[in-house]
Amino acid sequence: MNITVIGTGYVGLVTGTCLAEKGNKVICVDIDPKKVKNLEKGIIPIYEPNLQEMVIQNIAKKKLSFTTSLIDGIKNAKVVFFALPTPPGEGGSADLSYVLDVSKQLTSLLQKYTVIVNKSTVPVGTTHKIQSIIRKKYNGGFDVVSNPEFLKEGSAVADFMNPDRIVIGTSSKKAKKIMEELYSPFTKKGVPLLVMDECSAELTKYAANTFLAMKIAFMNEIAQLCERLGADVSLIKEGIGQDDRIGKKFLNAGIGFGGSCFPKDVIALLHTAKQNNYDFKLVKALIEVNQHQKIHLIKPLKSYFKNYLVGKKIALWGLAYKPETDDIREAPSLYVINALLEEGVDIQVYDPKATENIKKIYKDKITYFTNKYDAIKDADALIIVTEWKEFKNADIKKIGTLLHHKAIFDGRNIYDLQTMKKHKFHYISIGRQPVTI
Ligand code: NAD
Repeated sequence: MNITVIGTGYVGLVTGTCLAEKGNKVICVDIDPKKVKNLEKGIIPIYEPNLQEMVIQNIAKKKLSFTTSLIDGIKNAKVVFFALPTPPGEGGSADLSYVLDVSKQLTSLLQKYTVIVNKSTVPVGTTHKIQSIIRKKYNGGFDVVSNPEFLKEGSAVADFMNPDRIVIGTSSKKAKKIMEELYSPFTKKGVPLLVMDECSAELTKYAANTFLAMKIAFMNEIAQLCERLGADVSLIKEGIGQDDRIGKKFLNAGIGFGGSCFPKDVIALLHTAKQNNYDFKLVKALIEVNQHQKIHLIKPLKSYFKNYLVGKKIALWGLAYKPETDDIREAPSLYVINALLEEGVDIQVYDPKATENIKKIYKDKITYFTNKYDAIKDADALIIVTEWKEFKNADIKKIGTLLHHKAIFDGRNIYDLQTMKKHKFHYISIGRQPVTI
């Protein structure tokens, strides 16, 4: 099929590349000319495992191309995907300006029956809104379909190629058939394709993200209790995760969730509830829990230094909101850095992939390192913010010799308490008992 993907970020680039990999002819459109120029050369703007290789291979096979021109992009398209940003807007509602602007532009460009598929996360009613914008000015045939995306950054290609399910929101038989054909390489392998009405498809995405965010927030509250009661949250995770009804995933306590999706989607769902006169108490509580959790380690850090952090050198390992990505949107690292800057701390940071993105925000306010051990040399303490594998596998003895004080504040529970005791660290983690020296 001839496919166009508008917006070439995490979702758009992965969608376009994976659909090209399945044999479709894909054109990706983006307004950022620098991004498009680089993509044409196979240089991708984000870090995502296996993506670069797949982009290069599909460009070579002439299955994947890039343009800044919407006219050229949609000329031959049978299906046009929207993978446009929907950042938080006023009062927490999703900002639909990108999606609605492109919809307006399409009205003068469509020439034949086209299926417009929205992959952006949008509030209930947006599919119908796009439909009515286009219908006002375009007399030809078209359908607008909701097709929320569930890929995870860090494993986006694998998730797209092997999804748990595909959700399609449409009331059009014609569009349904085209979507079934497009996704047939996936459904052939037994992946369920769930066809539902547009509103339910849109709400499914918010329900999924909010539910997952709630699991994390719940474990963080259990962690708070553990710290007060002398229990260990990692044991509780095992104890409850064995129950099929609960499941093993998303039960890690830590310094909160971030990223481009959970925080904004949770707030947008709360906004939708408010607009519809529903007081969604669970969502309100989980937002509050997560805000506190992001700076949870600042208190024990301060108390370790007798409430005086001015001039202390603190190292941060991890800046990305989670491992295997360079994305720092709403990352806990931002909240930790801001809190430390307020305390007058000298901050030294290291992340395998996200440093360049953090540099754009903090410039010369903090010091950047390209090696994890250099970042902790002579630091008064280390805060672990992201659970990258290279931190889990770090040489504990070496950490002890490089740090000025053997103090680790671990926001991701990556080290074993016994090991920390053995190596005589002051080690504070989340929902587990402190190791003190
Ligand atoms: P992104 O910011 O990484 O990418 C958006 C891209 O759209 C950018 O490259 C930008 O230059 C481009 N763009 C903006 N305006 C444009 C226009 N008028 N024409 C063409 N291109 C334009 O965003 P993302 O993370 O890929 O997210 C896209 C949508 O998918 C959002 O609604 C998000 O909530 C949703 N989503 C994201 C994820 C994720 O993990 N990132 C997962 C599921 C769903």
